[in-house]
Amino acid sequence: MFPLFGISRSLLGFLLATRLALAQSNVTLSACKAIYAEYPSHLALDPLGPLGSETISQDSLYASTNTDYWNEGNSKNRAACAFFPGSAEEVSYAVKVLNNYTNVQYALKSGGHNPNFGFSSVNQGILISFRPNLANTTISTDHSTADVGPGSRWDEALTVLDQYGKAIVGGRLGHVGVGGYILGGGLSFLTSQYGFAADTLVNVECVTANGTIINANRTSNSDIFFAMQGGGNQFGIVTKYTLKTFDIGQVWGGTKVYAGTDHEAILAATAEFTENFTDPKAAIIVTNDFALDDLASLIVMFYFYDGPTPPAGIFDEFDKVTPISSNVSTQSYPSLLTANNAYSLSGFRYQIREGTYPNLPHDNMTAFYDYHYTSFQKQAFAYMAQSLDIQIFSFAIQPLPVALKQSSADAGGNRLGLDAANGDTIFMEYDVSWLNPTCDNLCPGYLETMVNSVKSYQQSTYGGIAPTNYKSGDISWISYNPIFPNDGMYDQQVLQSFGNSTYQQLKTIQQRQDPNGFFSQRQGGFKFST
Ligand SMILES: Cc1cc2nc3c(=O)[nH]c(=O)nc-3n(C[C@H](O)[C@H](O)[C@H](O)COP(=O)(O)OP(=O)(O)OC[C@H]3O[C@@H](n4cnc5c(N)ncnc54)[C@H](O)[C@@H]3O)c2cc1C
Repeated sequence: MFPLFGISRSLLGFLLATRLALAQSNVTLSACKAIYAEYPSHLALDPLGPLGSETISQDSLYASTNTDYWNEGNSKNRAACAFFPGSAEEVSYAVKVLNNYTNVQYALKSGGHNPNFGFSSVNQGILISFRPNLANTTISTDHSTADVGPGSRWDEALTVLDQYGKAIVGGRLGHVGVGGYILGGGLSFLTSQYGFAADTLVNVECVTANGTIINANRTSNSDIFFAMQGGGNQFGIVTKYTLKTFDIGQVWGGTKVYAGTDHEAILAATAEFTENFTDPKAAIIVTNDFALDDLASLIVMFYFYDGPTPPAGIFDEFDKVTPISSNVSTQSYPSLLTANNAYSLSGFRYQIREGTYPNLPHDNMTAFYDYHYTSFQKQAFAYMAQSLDIQIFSFAIQPLPVALKQSSADAGGNRLGLDAANGDTIFMEYDVSWLNPTCDNLCPGYLETMVNSVKSYQQSTYGGIAPTNYKSGDISWISYNPIFPNDGMYDQQVLQSFGNSTYQQLKTIQQRQDPNGFFSQRQGGFKFST
């Protein structure tokens, strides 16, 4: 203690901090009130805040918006107010207000599925939620495109389109939001046929950093359009996506659950499926889940075929393994995505991290998968023994065979920098979930350590070996890049992983469009280095 005119320094510090916090919250409240004055039925003030009683009829919408995140940890952030715009004009108005209050932070929320803390949540700032008022889907008169509000979830949008026999390229679990998914590229069961979701964009209606409403497409505001095809949320606020539609009928798919002890056969089949990928209508995700002990290690495989039944031969290697359970059936596309929601467990705190790997020649790949499975499992159990609060560690194998990359290029491509000539790639999505907030600081670090460990093993053991179906490219770069934005952890250099040329282009566009840092400094998301 260092007495200062009778008041201790720590007390003085506390008083100053309190005054600052109050001043800050007064400024934020003024910004909230400015939006409220214009759109009273679309704004909810924090019910526990000083003016909460003014928007009492919106309390439950405020509460669900502030808490409905896939990563429960995001609910720790508490917005001063939530705004539910119903049009681009309303978003534009909010942006103009925010430009008058330059210290107020904000967040953009669509489906709330991005697990990174603060990417779509904000503490004592303004939460702009595109649900429920900007979540409609409509099909064009000739049924060739669909307009989708950023607040929609994939199963909602696809249910609307299914009645016309149409689909758009979108999420593999229906509950994921349209808004963030497309800006991160968007890997779909349909990607091997039609490209990533971002490749199928026709137009993006969005609001710029100064509040102007624009349309961005291949001929108008093409730089912003280019950036939004995988570059994230630093270029504009999307108020409407226009996407190409594709014919869809009954599809075959669902999940099969296998015992973890069958991992060798399943992982060998995965290597085979990726290298000898013959039918772009087929897709899989192989999730390896570790909970509690050996008995609770399971493999959940998501299967998909765009047709009522897959032709013989496609999944033969997997069919040699008997699952513990299966719900695979022929059904409509939206029903499949809704059923897959069973694996989007809510109520947990999550961190994910991405690891990109080359799909190696068969013997190398099965050996690597085997090492990966065993060492990841061992580390998972070790951390679980230390912290009984951890619920599940998992890694999900998402194959990107060259045919998928070629379909993406044929559809116009995106900013991720994938090239069919570079051979077959795997996007690995790593995951840890826990319950108690006390692990919020530790659990993400555990995951990072585990991923770094398997990755450095891969590099030291197999570095320099060309991926299957490789033709050209710098093996040391293409083997581990890009980092898939939709699975990226907050500290990963996602934009940098697109390659220096694309990175510099995106950075130039970002700085030109947003000279005052409206998008880059006042919300979360993957950033450019300064
Ligand atoms: C269970 C689960 C399954 C998944 N499956 C897939 C999959 O199959 N394929 C795939 O590619 N990814 C998948 N993902 C990853 C997912 O696509 C990303 O987490 C994505 O960011 C989620 O989008 P959202 O709109 O739900 O998220 P939100 O958390 O609402 O938003 C995510 C980001 O998008 C920005 N954003 C949201 N709306 C707008 C807007 N209108 N304008 C500008 N920026 C905006 C936000 O600022 C935020 O940074 C999955 C994630 C989960 C949790």
